[in-house]
Amino acid sequence: MSQPSTFDLVVIGGGPAGYVAAIRAAQLGKTVACIEKERPGGTCLNWGCIPTKALLKTADLLDHIRHAEDFGIKINGTVQIDLPSIIQRSRSVADTMAKGIEYLFQSKKVHHIAGHAQITSPTQVTITPQQGGAPTILQTRYILIATGCKPRPFPGLPADAPNVWTSKEAMLPSALPRSLIIIGAGAIGVEFAYFYNALGTKVTLIEAMPQLVPQEDHEVAALLEKEFTKQGITVITQAKTENIQPTDQGVNVTLSAPTPQNLSAEKLLLAIGVIPNLDGLLAPSVRIELDAKGYIKTNDRYQTSIPTIYAAGDIIGPPWLAHVASHEAIEAVEGLFIPGKKPHKITTTPACTYCQPQIASIGLTEKQAKEKGLRFKVAKFPYRASGRAVASGEPEGFVKLIAGEPHGEILGAHIIGAEATELIAELSLAIQLEATLDEIHTTIHPHPTLSEMVAEAALAAKGAAIHI
Ligand code: FAD
Repeated sequence: MSQPSTFDLVVIGGGPAGYVAAIRAAQLGKTVACIEKERPGGTCLNWGCIPTKALLKTADLLDHIRHAEDFGIKINGTVQIDLPSIIQRSRSVADTMAKGIEYLFQSKKVHHIAGHAQITSPTQVTITPQQGGAPTILQTRYILIATGCKPRPFPGLPADAPNVWTSKEAMLPSALPRSLIIIGAGAIGVEFAYFYNALGTKVTLIEAMPQLVPQEDHEVAALLEKEFTKQGITVITQAKTENIQPTDQGVNVTLSAPTPQNLSAEKLLLAIGVIPNLDGLLAPSVRIELDAKGYIKTNDRYQTSIPTIYAAGDIIGPPWLAHVASHEAIEAVEGLFIPGKKPHKITTTPACTYCQPQIASIGLTEKQAKEKGLRFKVAKFPYRASGRAVASGEPEGFVKLIAGEPHGEILGAHIIGAEATELIAELSLAIQLEATLDEIHTTIHPHPTLSEMVAEAALAAKGAAIHI
């Protein structure tokens, strides 16, 4: 592919926002370049969503093997963990998916340029190869920033403190730690807690808020805590971490709340959120407006304070989710290049956590519905009453729906249990189409499936659930 002298769009960052934006612009017949300093796929494919799910699959499999006798399978001999192979599999899944993006770039005629990009004017991007060498300067009509986020550091703790991991190091252990403290019980923290605990590490999970997975419905969080405790994970909520002290042998942690205590472990994983990644991105003359937390401010078309520069994905703030990043990127590109395209405001987005039990939700929690002063009802259906869940040996969990009164429109849906992350898509569509409880339960759900629980929960709202 010969390189044009001026592009229609230069995208900076090759993650779910950047690569999707580049492909969509190419589909619309535009000349587009995507600049990535590491490897296409971004955090999601290389160091986030995908490699963690490969690791979690190993943990699930181990769990099934340990319970094989419940299913009439006797395993003679010990089950051994081959950590290098587990890590190798996760890396190879990430590689396969990242290669897939490189292939898509070629087939869709996206110019992929490796290197660190800096915006040197509202229509110019300068790319410096990571290994050194002469910079390349690109002229463009528009720029889309999709540089994502990086892990939030703990105040006062150096980034390279020994025995302290970010999620990236937690994906690449050279040996299984005997003990691990995880600070932060959002999705990343609880996924790693489940993974390491399943492999045999003694895990202590510390959360500053009153519940695990603080964004989720309180009943979901309560069941997760119960199940994690059963699995052997030590959970400490409402914790105040005063100090983290790396040592030669591991890490010491001082908590002043909920009760003053000192903890120690071989490794510590910091999972306390993310901060925007703008490292070296903007030349001093390019002054884009940021919000108070340093995220790029955009309007409803993802346009920044500089009219030729757009931004999408994690770099414009929460929710920090791959599917949200991709959706924003498509909206930004279509808004730029499809005449008359109206902005589509994102109102609710599903969020999933892939530990066991899995968690998936969309819309308002029960507490949020109360705080908003809405008239609503809550309907619940337990996994224990689902033939499919019991047959699969996975009876823990529930589907909880929050529905508006008097019409029964779905305001929120919260699922904890097996395959919750697959079940939520139906409720995302329900909210998108403003479907009501009646429309859900009069839709015939196949038997025996876990999806029947969604219909039963809708029936439960009027006291008509059949199986409870
Ligand atoms: P990113 O994917 O971070 O991509 C940004 C890219 O820009 C990077 O590749 C970076 O190298 C590149 N870049 C930055 N600056 C420059 C520059 N100046 N020049 C060139 N390139 C640059 N989300 C989910 O929805 N589901 C999950 O299950 C999930 N699991 C996760 C697990 C972990 C451990 C982590 C860390 C995150 C997870 N996420 C998950 C979040 C998800 O990865 C992000 O929301 C998503 O990757 C954001 O996409 P993005 O394109 O905005 O940014």
